[in-house]
Amino acid sequence: MNKIAFGPIPSRRLGRSLGINNIPPKTCTYSCVYCQVGRTTAMALERGAFFAPEEIFEAARAKVAAARRHGEPVDYLTFVPDGEPTLDVNLGRELDLLRPLGVKVAVITNSSLLGREDVRADLARADWVSVKVDAVDEEPWRRVNRPHGGLRLDDILNGIREFAAAFAGTLATETMLVAGANDAPEHVAAVAEFLAEIGPTVAYLSVPTRPPAEGTVRPPAEETVARAYDAFASRGLRTELLIGYPGDAFAFTGNVEDDLLSITAVHPMREEAVAELLAKAGASPAVVEKLVADGMLAAVEFGGKKFYVRTFRAAGGGGEGEG
Ligand code: SF4
Repeated sequence: MNKIAFGPIPSRRLGRSLGINNIPPKTCTYSCVYCQVGRTTAMALERGAFFAPEEIFEAARAKVAAARRHGEPVDYLTFVPDGEPTLDVNLGRELDLLRPLGVKVAVITNSSLLGREDVRADLARADWVSVKVDAVDEEPWRRVNRPHGGLRLDDILNGIREFAAAFAGTLATETMLVAGANDAPEHVAAVAEFLAEIGPTVAYLSVPTRPPAEGTVRPPAEETVARAYDAFASRGLRTELLIGYPGDAFAFTGNVEDDLLSITAVHPMREEAVAELLAKAGASPAVVEKLVADGMLAAVEFGGKKFYVRTFRAAGGGGEGEG
């Protein structure tokens, strides 16, 4: 059953987000090895009409009205279907129709069609757009995203550049790291360089934490993720980890364990920063040792420094991780 509007659900990126599913499952230009919706059954390259724009508007309008009746805020209407939202030829019209609801609109795209002028024009109508950039080199791109044979990486990267230069809303990027597929330092450095060029407001780094399309897919080691974070941040990118926990680095609870876990779910913490937090809370280093012993935190070292990262291998999901 394909529900057109669902939620609102809490999203770290977007607050309370009401999801909009404008594509039948699983229609996509990619068949990412980590896709949590499974393998792509309808590989597509051409845009098409799936639902009537009025039907999408009505589903969203009813959900927003119900949420408001229950006093639940809706911060964003988010196009996050079980496929690629820009394959919908009516996306621009739908964004225009939704405007009078008075809620900001977000689109999470895999970027593969950004080489097209009409797709960029549609996305320009949104308030917040996240573009997927898992790789900027041919080999890892093919390995991780398994693109439709008609797609060309150069066109996509140029399309992202053009879109980023003209977009007046908030631009985010999302990079999913898969062990042995796109997590080599040179591939990560190339992605960081590209992202620095397009200048997103925030660059998200994620790892597969939910059951992926291919059983062989594994998240990289914590150390690899911490290095990738560093490669991004040292390029001047505001970088956040999105590893399946609804962490919020800025909401201090006063409970030192919770605070350590939520901060490290967003970014690796230097040893000194951890010591400072413990001192402020009057807590002993044993708290951290216990979290490491329990497998909740990992201590990793690189560049001569020690960092703590939230572990994610055993994570059952929760939080984000949209396609
Ligand atoms: S992760 Fe997103 S882009 Fe990749 S196959 Fe799944 S729906 Fe398509």
